[in-house]
Amino acid sequence: MSSEINTKENILTEMQELRKELHRFENSQVQHLQYQQIIRQSQKEYKTLIEHLPVIVARVNLLSQHIYINPIITSDTNIPAQDFIGKTFRDVGLPNNFCTLWEATFSYIFATGKEVVFESDFINYQGKHCFYHCKAVPEYDQEHTIQSALYTLMNITDLKLMEAKIYQQHQEFQALIENTPDIISRIDKDMRISFINPAIKDLTGVSVEEYLDKTLDEIPHFDKDFIEMWKKKNQEVFHTKEPNVFEYEFPGIHGNHHFHARIMPEFRADGTVEYALSNSRDITAHKNMTAEMARLDRLNLVGEMAASIGHEVRNPMTTVRGFLQMISLKAEYKKHSEFFSIMIEELDRANTIITEFLSLAKDKSVDLKELNLNDIVITLMPLMQANGIVDNKYIYSDLKQIPNLLLDEKEIRQLILNIVHNGFEAMEPGGNIYIKTFTYDDTVVLAIQDEGNGIPTDVIKKLGTPFFTTKDTGTGLGLAVCYSIANRHNATIQPITGPNGTTFYIVFQITKKESNILQ
Ligand code: ADP
Ligand code: MG
Repeated sequence: MSSEINTKENILTEMQELRKELHRFENSQVQHLQYQQIIRQSQKEYKTLIEHLPVIVARVNLLSQHIYINPIITSDTNIPAQDFIGKTFRDVGLPNNFCTLWEATFSYIFATGKEVVFESDFINYQGKHCFYHCKAVPEYDQEHTIQSALYTLMNITDLKLMEAKIYQQHQEFQALIENTPDIISRIDKDMRISFINPAIKDLTGVSVEEYLDKTLDEIPHFDKDFIEMWKKKNQEVFHTKEPNVFEYEFPGIHGNHHFHARIMPEFRADGTVEYALSNSRDITAHKNMTAEMARLDRLNLVGEMAASIGHEVRNPMTTVRGFLQMISLKAEYKKHSEFFSIMIEELDRANTIITEFLSLAKDKSVDLKELNLNDIVITLMPLMQANGIVDNKYIYSDLKQIPNLLLDEKEIRQLILNIVHNGFEAMEPGGNIYIKTFTYDDTVVLAIQDEGNGIPTDVIKKLGTPFFTTKDTGTGLGLAVCYSIANRHNATIQPITGPNGTTFYIVFQITKKESNILQ
């Protein structure tokens, strides 16, 4: 009986176990279904995600045939994604060079197991040049053998175009800065130069590299005053964070330059200022022009005065001179003849001054004829040589072929003589003067070069002002007359001076008609 009960109990327990087992199985079955559902759901989500990615994503088998490709491929190839399945790039008829590149890529991946990243381009079906960032990786199965490759193609055409545009803008900007005649520089708070454009070389003869990464104090050819001034102006900008506008003078290799400068703070995103940017514009020509105009104004004023009083003074002087000459011949005045000569000489000197003065007259008439400047110089040479030789000074000419100009011969002679005369006076014995003529662009240039000591800056500014002289016996009219003559000939006078001498350039414009008549 007991064994019967035992058996019954056993069966019961077993049944219970079985029921439990069944329950567990049912549970796991439910769980399995749930898992499957989750997996399906996430697969669906992945698919949606991949199909809407703006990147081409695809998988190929070991024969480079597509197993999967997302629909974005259609936008560049106009081939539906499903047409790729089971096919290689070549099978669907993509361009040859594109296919060759990808065949090589897949073979490499399958052979080495390495991933590959590169950029490639492709002319799309609309003829548009597209650029791609490409990445391809091998995919392994459970036995760790390669069974497929996954690749992505990201269209970076817009990025590339933007990059090219930025590069071009950068190049244009660079060209602008490198070719501007303005001097542009950037300095930090320690007064260290972090940028300067090549215009500096035209000014100082020293190349950009010699300035970069140096502080102002480390630049040997900057003079102390300039360094102090430049530091102060920059420090003001760092301090006030406001632009600083001012003018300054700088001695360049071709003479003194006048600059208009603007220093600006370079703001960072957080509002701090670590650098100051400066722009210096050369306004020497403008300054000279203003000075020239002021000079002409002065000349005109004096000229008008000259015209009105010149004659009035000269006439009585002629009378006095006549009587002096007459009386000096009388016997009773013979013993004073020396005084008479002095009086007459002094009157003559005064008369010369008045003559020169008269030629400053604004509306003095000129007798313009078509002449060659060379002929005038050639005629004057013996006279000028004779004048020089007395003091052991020499004059030479170098005359190039030049067209005829409309000239007043007497006036041009006067101009040449006055400038040459100053040249002789400026030189020690043994000095030489060179007179040159040549054409330059559409001008004829007369250059008179001496070997004197040059003209100091404060004197240069006053040249041509009537009665300005640095000589004890000078009249200060020589150059004033020259400027006045040049003005009537529509010519300009440009003195270039240095410690080894001065050259006066008299620049005449060639008119159309004149340029046809070459000597
Ligand atoms: P002046 O010769 O009577 O002094 P100018 O008008 O001819 O008057 O010249 C004015 C001044 O310009 C001169 O006194 C001199 O200081 C200066 N100057 C002119 N030409 C030269 C020169 N070639 N070299 C040096 N100084 C010059
Ligand atoms: Mg003189």
